[in-house]
Amino acid sequence: MNKELEQYRLQAIDWLATHAPAYSGEARKGLSFEQDLALAKTWQALKADHGYACITLPGEYGGGGGSELQKVIFCEEEMRYDLPLVYFSISVNNPLPIFLRYAPEEWRKRLGPPTVRGDLIWCQLFSEPSAGSDLASLRLKAERTEGGWKLNGQKVWTSWAQISDWGVVIARSDPSLPKHAGLTYFFLDMKAPGVSVRPIHRLGEECDLNEVFFDDVFIPDEQQLGEVNGGFRVAVETLMIERYAVTDESGYAPALETFIEMARNSLVDGQPALDDPQVRTKIVDVFIERQGLRAIHHRALEAFANGKEPGPEGAMRKLLLGRLRQSLGSVAMNLLGANGVRLLPDRHPLNDYTRAWLDPSLRIAGGTDELLLNTLAERVLGLPQDHRPDKGKPYNAGK
Ligand SMILES: Cc1cc2nc3c(=O)[nH]c(=O)nc-3n(C[C@H](O)[C@H](O)[C@H](O)COP(=O)(O)OP(=O)(O)OC[C@H]3O[C@@H](n4cnc5c(N)ncnc54)[C@H](O)[C@@H]3O)c2cc1C
Repeated sequence: MNKELEQYRLQAIDWLATHAPAYSGEARKGLSFEQDLALAKTWQALKADHGYACITLPGEYGGGGGSELQKVIFCEEEMRYDLPLVYFSISVNNPLPIFLRYAPEEWRKRLGPPTVRGDLIWCQLFSEPSAGSDLASLRLKAERTEGGWKLNGQKVWTSWAQISDWGVVIARSDPSLPKHAGLTYFFLDMKAPGVSVRPIHRLGEECDLNEVFFDDVFIPDEQQLGEVNGGFRVAVETLMIERYAVTDESGYAPALETFIEMARNSLVDGQPALDDPQVRTKIVDVFIERQGLRAIHHRALEAFANGKEPGPEGAMRKLLLGRLRQSLGSVAMNLLGANGVRLLPDRHPLNDYTRAWLDPSLRIAGGTDELLLNTLAERVLGLPQDHRPDKGKPYNAGK
């Protein structure tokens, strides 16, 4: 890493040490959802004031005008704190950049800066009850009407729809075309007449997921992003924008160090758990996998530093992290005994083994394990493509 980037990291560490404690950890304990969201918005605005919000987006829309590597460096440091970042995890990472790429300039000027500052939140309305991994099989209907489009149907698993002001949505505009070819992409006001949001209750206290229903929702022509029936390409672009997500063990998985500390203080058959051969083997396995993950991460950083895109590193890293998080969680829960099945509020991700085991989100959202394995099989091992029996056939054939 060159001197300039080292300097950037040191500045970020310094800035975070000054500002982050007032927005993280103890400062969040006991806050209601609304209070935590308000804190998150203030944190986002503070970052925007100092060029740390949306680091890679242009300054004219409120972004930091920086590089991908600077963004990764800042994220790495920011994730060391338990900050309320989750409400913006979709908004600024995928919908905002795609909106800025395709929307008319007056719309970009109007919605870009307040989104960067966190005053506006966006959601991404892609998945449906029968379209997730195979997104192109979606059904939400877009029909032509005077001055725009009318949308009818349903989306599901929409993160943060209940607090979103705007959303990006993909709908079927021509069912007579093959499934990838008949889709159009729009942005929409989540408060528009006919949009209704219904929460999906999860096992824990998380309240991020929703169903969204469309009942004759009018979308003006100027809110179309990309070509009519060219929406699938825009959707793929949206998903590719977050080129490399910094999901490291400090952010998502309980740390090995806290596990070792716990094993030191637990007993297995009356003996210290740290002396148990199975526990020791687990520690070694996780240590080795973690070293592998770090090596993959450094390769991705090197690619960015050399002006290249990381290859399948992101898929490999997400796959391993998701599995690691759950497998360490399950061993930890065994050591914790009856306490291991209790979900405690205000638990830091670094020692929340129960949630790490119970919550498979990381293994589903942004590509399931199986889909990631397919990507690695095709792109790394050069194996033949998955069987696609409906390729090239009209979407409505036989329906
Ligand atoms: C926490 C969370 C947040 C989310 N947020 C959003 C959001 O904001 N917006 C949004 O649009 N969506 C969101 N999603 C939905 C997410 O994108 C989908 O859940 C995901 O794409 C998988 O789709 P699915 O649930 O329909 O499962 P399916 O695609 O039906 O898969 C079911 C099972 O079949 C396997 N499978 C499917 N196809 C293949 C294949 N070709 N080969 C081998 N196995 C296969 C899968 O791996 C999986 O195990 C979110 C999901 C989660 C868990």
